[in-house]
Amino acid sequence: MSKTLPAPLRVRFAPSPTGYLHVGGARTALHNWLLARKYGGTFLLRIEDTDRARSTDESTRAIFEGLEWLGLTWDEEVTYQGANLARHRADAQRLLDAGAVYRCFCTPAELEQRRAEAEARGDAFKYDRRCDRLAPDEIQHRVAAGDAFVLRFRVPDGSTEWDDLVHERITFPNKDIEDFVILRSDGTPIYNMAVVSDDIDARVTLVMRGDDHISNTPKQILLYNALGAPLPVFAHLPMIHGTDGKKLSKRHGAMAVGDYRHEGILPSAMDNFLALLGWSPGGDIEVMTMQEMIERFSPDGLLKKASVFDLKKLEWMNGQHLNMLPLDQVEPLITPAIVDAGLATREWLAANRAWYMTLLELLRVRSRTVSDVVRQATPYFGDAVELDSDAVAKQWKDPVTPELLSDARDALAAASEWSASTLEEALRSVAERRGLGAGKLFQPLRVALTGSSVSPGIFDVLMLLGRERSLGRIDTALQVLAR
Ligand code: GLU
Repeated sequence: MSKTLPAPLRVRFAPSPTGYLHVGGARTALHNWLLARKYGGTFLLRIEDTDRARSTDESTRAIFEGLEWLGLTWDEEVTYQGANLARHRADAQRLLDAGAVYRCFCTPAELEQRRAEAEARGDAFKYDRRCDRLAPDEIQHRVAAGDAFVLRFRVPDGSTEWDDLVHERITFPNKDIEDFVILRSDGTPIYNMAVVSDDIDARVTLVMRGDDHISNTPKQILLYNALGAPLPVFAHLPMIHGTDGKKLSKRHGAMAVGDYRHEGILPSAMDNFLALLGWSPGGDIEVMTMQEMIERFSPDGLLKKASVFDLKKLEWMNGQHLNMLPLDQVEPLITPAIVDAGLATREWLAANRAWYMTLLELLRVRSRTVSDVVRQATPYFGDAVELDSDAVAKQWKDPVTPELLSDARDALAAASEWSASTLEEALRSVAERRGLGAGKLFQPLRVALTGSSVSPGIFDVLMLLGRERSLGRIDTALQVLAR
């Protein structure tokens, strides 16, 4: 089946700035963005900062930073829901004038008491519409007396239905929907009122958001209808679960997109990983660049079932991207981490660019994250090397190690030139002379040179370190072994 999209296509991401940009929000933003980019639509950003007590500027900044890092650029000026209060009220007033809503004077204490009574009887509480039956002069009288009231939407009989882009037909019997409040007694709008007013104003034609909003949608549809506005298409993306099948939470790993950035995940890998939470391009295609994701994205590939957030898969994906991207795109993503780790300055790296690019090329194929690259890069900066005690215990345990290293040092020092082929010849002849397999020599030597038993090929290591540092490190190893 091919699903039809509205034209013009205008989508939005509408986060509440009450925390960081979390994985679920980023996935919603990305799917909206991909849809807009694929079909020539417009991607809007609206900060839903009406909850004054919980919204912070810091969180708004974290949302901007997270979206920018992921490359999810928005098309028109960002809007702030809190700035639209006058319009929200005017729309609520229009609904009151049209008779779609009524004033409710019941106090929170009264409602609470009735709720408790209903529960004691074993009934589900639903507002009984008593204020909708007040006589007009009584209403006038109470308004004139300054009694506090909220505005409630009078939910009609029947049912509310829509063709969800993900779930297909969804039907809610209206009898299950209480006459909901749209404006509080202090004149501030309830979420559903503010969202509908803003989406109409922004001419949003497709509302794509998390499944957790499904129960709001019938109320919003009732509001659109009462305001005489055309309905957008709705799309509800499936929940994200941990590998244990439970709703995603802190215990499944970091929730903030920014944390993954700091853990060395590349933005394109994060995008690729997030895109596949609730979407499949078909076949067994998984690893994609942003451009490929745009090309393949389609509402037909949106999935209904909950998707699984698997950190191992994210790391794997990152390793794929680390290797797939052109090296000159990977370099700027790694360099800040190299500089932050104090390994070198930007200037030094720029001055030694050819050497540095060779190092990155050799390390990225062995890494899953930027942090892996930094960790493995450490031995190539500075003179001294930190010896890994496990590597030492394992690779230097043979009593013949000092002699082997000493022979290797002599052979390397005597090499006519410091080139991979000459060094290889020199070392292989040492191994042969001792009747050893090359590995028996290379492993202890690798520990001497890098401090660790994993590294690129030994000749690459020797070339990266250069003559002086290589010989110096073998000397240090011999001193350590002589203790
Ligand atoms: N501000 C709402 C939230 O963060 C989203 C509203 C919507 O997408 O309709 O959950």
